[in-house]
Order: sequence, then C-alpha cells, then structure tokens
Amino acid sequence: MPRKRVLVVEDNPLNMELVCEVLETHGYEVWQASAAPEALERLTTGKPDLILMDIQLPGLDGLALTKQLKQDPVARDIPVLALTAHAMKGDRERIMEAGCCSYVSKPIDINELTTQVARFLGDGGAPVRDPS
Ligand code: MN
Repeated sequence: MPRKRVLVVEDNPLNMELVCEVLETHGYEVWQASAAPEALERLTTGKPDLILMDIQLPGLDGLALTKQLKQDPVARDIPVLALTAHAMKGDRERIMEAGCCSYVSKPIDINELTTQVARFLGDGGAPVRDPS
C-alpha cells in the first residue's frame, strides 16, 4: 500500500521542519511548498491525500488559496487542514467557510497535529512504534 502523501504549505522554515519531521516519523510522504505558486505547481504533478495549509502566507494567503483549490475539479476533494496562529473568535468560521476541514493552532502541538492528520487520513501512514 503506497504511503499517504501530505502537501505542506508553510512559509516559516521552523514550522515546516517540525511538521515534516512529525509527518515523516508517522510514515507519510511529505511534499513541501513555501508559498501559493509553489503549491499550485506541485499539485500539477500529482494529488496529495491531505494538504496542511498555513493561513498566513506571503502573497496569496492560505484561505484564498484554499478557496481557489475548492473551485478546482481535481483538487477540490483533497481535505485542507489549516495551520493558524489566529484561532480567535470568528477565525474558525472564516477557516471553515474557505473550505478547510479543520485547523491546528500555532504554536503547533505535536499530539494535536498527529491526531488531526490521522483523523483525515485514517491509518494510512505507517506509524513508527515507540519501542518501549
Ligand atoms: Mn506563515
């Protein structure tokens, strides 16, 4: 069974590194993009099973990019999980309205991230078991 693929759209290198490390540890194949044009280009080469979308991106932001993807006949059914530092009152509504399936607040909690990713990907990754 092929590994599930996750496209991570994130402009902050430290967050990108953290998210990639967590996903790879759980057996997912990770594609990286640091801005919208790069993400769109990546999507022309294949279809990920999930997109992790930073909301604050330079240029076209994560909500605008999500809205655009939801208009695309091929990309529209890929679940988009938002990463946001601004999960304040009203933000959840804006995120869900844009077409995201859920969100993870920053600073990123690793357990929260893995729980949410697994929620939308099922158990398709190959978890690296703790030997203890
Ligand atoms: Mn950002």
